[in-house]
Amino acid sequence: MSQWSTHQLTDFFSAVNAATDEESAVAYAVERAAEMVEAEVAAVMVGDEVRGEWGFGPEVPVAGLLRADERLGVPGLGALHTCYTGLGEGRKQGALMVGRLSDEFGAEERQMLHGMAQVLGLALRSIRVLSDERGLRADSEREAEVAQTRQMLVETLLTIQRSISGRRPLPEILDLVTSGAAVLLGANSVALMLAEEGRARRLTVASTAGTPEAATHEGEAREAMAGGQALIRALSRDSVIAAPLQVTSEMAGSLVARLPGPAERHTGHRDQLAAFAQQVSLALTDSRTVEAVHEAHHDPVTGLPNRGLFLKIFNRVLASRDVATDPTSVLFIDLDRFKAVNDSLGHEAGDALLAAVAGRIRGCVRASDTTARLGGDEFAVLLHDSPIDSAISVAERIINAVKDPFRVADRDIFIGASIGVAISRETSEHSDVLLNNADVAMYRAKKEGPGKMVVYEPYMHTEALNVLSLRGDLQKALDAGEFALQYQPLIRLETGEVAGVEALIRWHSPGRGLVSPVDFIPIAEESGLIVEIGQWVLETAATQVAAWRRTFPDLTLNVNVSGHQLVHPRFADNVMRALAVAGLPSSTVTLELTESVLMSDPDLARASLTALRRLGVQLSIDDFGTGYSSLAYLRELPVDELKVDRAFIARAELTAEDLALVRTIVQLGQILGLRVVAEGIENAAQLEALRSLGCGYGQGYHLCRPADAADLPPFLERASLRHPNASLIA
Ligand code: C2E
Ligand code: MG
Ligand code: MG
Repeated sequence: MSQWSTHQLTDFFSAVNAATDEESAVAYAVERAAEMVEAEVAAVMVGDEVRGEWGFGPEVPVAGLLRADERLGVPGLGALHTCYTGLGEGRKQGALMVGRLSDEFGAEERQMLHGMAQVLGLALRSIRVLSDERGLRADSEREAEVAQTRQMLVETLLTIQRSISGRRPLPEILDLVTSGAAVLLGANSVALMLAEEGRARRLTVASTAGTPEAATHEGEAREAMAGGQALIRALSRDSVIAAPLQVTSEMAGSLVARLPGPAERHTGHRDQLAAFAQQVSLALTDSRTVEAVHEAHHDPVTGLPNRGLFLKIFNRVLASRDVATDPTSVLFIDLDRFKAVNDSLGHEAGDALLAAVAGRIRGCVRASDTTARLGGDEFAVLLHDSPIDSAISVAERIINAVKDPFRVADRDIFIGASIGVAISRETSEHSDVLLNNADVAMYRAKKEGPGKMVVYEPYMHTEALNVLSLRGDLQKALDAGEFALQYQPLIRLETGEVAGVEALIRWHSPGRGLVSPVDFIPIAEESGLIVEIGQWVLETAATQVAAWRRTFPDLTLNVNVSGHQLVHPRFADNVMRALAVAGLPSSTVTLELTESVLMSDPDLARASLTALRRLGVQLSIDDFGTGYSSLAYLRELPVDELKVDRAFIARAELTAEDLALVRTIVQLGQILGLRVVAEGIENAAQLEALRSLGCGYGQGYHLCRPADAADLPPFLERASLRHPNASLIA
């Protein structure tokens, strides 16, 4: 098996094209072809004639050559393996033959020989055109033009091959191919389309030159690939030429050109593009460039197209349709709680989860739609022709599909998806603008809670800008001392005394006034800043409560903890350090976590919580009833307290179902030995209803609003009168 290189091919190409007569072109070609595949003999036949041969000696077996025998008997040599390839379309154009004693010709060798034959065919045809014309009239201008074209072809190919062996960045090489072809043919537009791996073998535009039209001729590109040869099609005013690219034995894509004027005028151009495509094919094979193209355009974890490729496909779709009658929608998908899984289970499990999610998303869309991974836990889906209604139903299907648990690393992982939807309404819209709109809508969906879908509206854009600047300001807020804590008492309902306080963070932003934690905590979580902020909350609250405990020794502290803190590897250490610095016993501290945090990875939550529990810290499930924790998990988690979400309390006096739910939670608490705290008690009727249900603790505006540290002691005093030491110390 011989090794060939692009350099050899380039040499071959330049030499054959430099030939001024058929004879010398053929003589050079047969000799080099034989040499490159280590063949004993080579010949070129045109029609019924052997035009040139190499290695046969005095007796050329003309009959056998013309029959294109698979095994060719050569006097003095024996029976040879042969390989015949055409010099162009049809037998009339002739063929190149090589014969070898040792072994059969492999696929790569056949492809290379095919490339050489194409080049030779092209050279012979232009030589013929020249001599014909010379015979008719001495048209030196025409001669110069043909020679110039050939010279340009050679130079363009040399540049491409030089950039391949020089390992230039791939996009640069591919752009050289398209711009080279555009100049060579005088085309308005050239596109290089490559077939993706996989069953559908979708074509993706890897490079374009000139105007974008060529990229829309996917039909012609496919046809050329299917037929294995260049074709030409007439449009109303223009012509399209498509030439297949072949890498090893596979059709790897097509080079498509759009030229002005009728097809008849461009048959010569078709041959040129075919030869050009041949050379590009060989160069691509040699450099394994197609593989690299695939790698450069695809995400290795999921095998899906990446952001760059997605935008390219999107642009092509937008350019090729009238969006007013034929709308295109894009979905921006962001996974809920993925970061927690990735941080806790490690990247390998995170990758496995992403791959599984990709599979489920693909299962929700048609094969003709495009699914991509944009990065991190973000995916996008392009629904090629889809009015808003069907886009919404696809989004809902995806949300449902991702909701089911994933089996990863021997655990059941619960995550979710938030989706933003944007629809193209005007032709002028750009893919990146639409994708950004879908992103903005996704952000809204996230805010509405996990597993939601929102369709983009223009006003959301302003809001998104606010979020961006919020993120920037948040970064500085901690150093600038803009955070403060308020404390809201937890009341023992039976006696009315204060059992403890919950610390609630406040942000006094100089620019925007008081910002609610509901608005900035999710942003702090997203940016990872929550770990630092959470630590500040713990230290500040622990120091404050330790001070109050000198007067109210039984006072306890509840602190809200985000999932991002919980999965931090040093979380338990950080908690213990804060308490030690403040001098607050761990048994007086309860950490509040929401159900969604616990459910995203119950196993990890259990591990981390058990460690904390062993250190004496108590644990509470905040906003209980709004998530979807199963009772089975509740039993296994080392939990001490349930806080019934205020949504149920607000209606507790009104609806029988809410009342029943609160009663069930209270009973559950009793059975499992957990404290039950009712959140958001706003009036006397609610307080009375909860008391009568036997709910142990309550919190709410009716009992006491969250207050600054300085304002709280009078309340603590009043509510703690029953404490034996209170009056003594105070
Ligand atoms: P949460 O932990 O469930 O806190 C209770 C929220 O309900 C507080 O809102 C509180 O001011 C409010 N609230 C208390 N009583 C009543 C009432 O009777 N009626 C009504 N309508 N609301 C009442 P806030 O302070 O705005 O905090 C909102 C959420 O922000 C908290 O919900 C908690 O999840 C989060 N958060 C607050 N501080 C922190 C913090 O330091 N760290 C973390 N990670 N999250 C925090
Ligand atoms: Mg709370
Ligand atoms: Mg709550």
